[in-house]
Amino acid sequence: MAKENKIDEDLHLLAARRLRAAGMRYSKSRKAIVEVLANAGRPLTLDEVLLFKSDSNLAQSSVYRNSTELVEAGVIKCLASGKDHNRFELDDSIIGHHHHFVCSDCGDIEDFHVSEPLEKEILALEAELINKGLSVQGHTLDIQGRCKQCS
Ligand SMILES: [Zn+2]
Ligand SMILES: [Zn+2]
Repeated sequence: MAKENKIDEDLHLLAARRLRAAGMRYSKSRKAIVEVLANAGRPLTLDEVLLFKSDSNLAQSSVYRNSTELVEAGVIKCLASGKDHNRFELDDSIIGHHHHFVCSDCGDIEDFHVSEPLEKEILALEAELINKGLSVQGHTLDIQGRCKQCS
């Protein structure tokens, strides 16, 4: 339990620092969004963020506006699922590098990790491209399919 609280504290400190660097304040609304995303453990649509929020004062317009600003500050990331609504999650630099399973029916996204050997092979591929003079920013690996609800 104590460990979880520690992670929470670190998360909020990190978020506050990023926002400050971008000239923004870590307001109650922004904190509420970060908290919902941290607790969800999977990417959420903004409608879901509104559904799971504990702060009843958090209005829809506020969630929409603040999520854009959190993306700008590098605290959260917007994932286009190719379907209806975009999903949001905490930035990779906060929750760690991972990959996505994307449901082609409902657009739901689930996080997953690949084995260390596979991740290393991909990094070796990146290194090859760098050796060819390309500038590499990283990689994404999405798996498409249907989620349990849709299949
Ligand atoms: Zn689905
Ligand atoms: Zn993710």
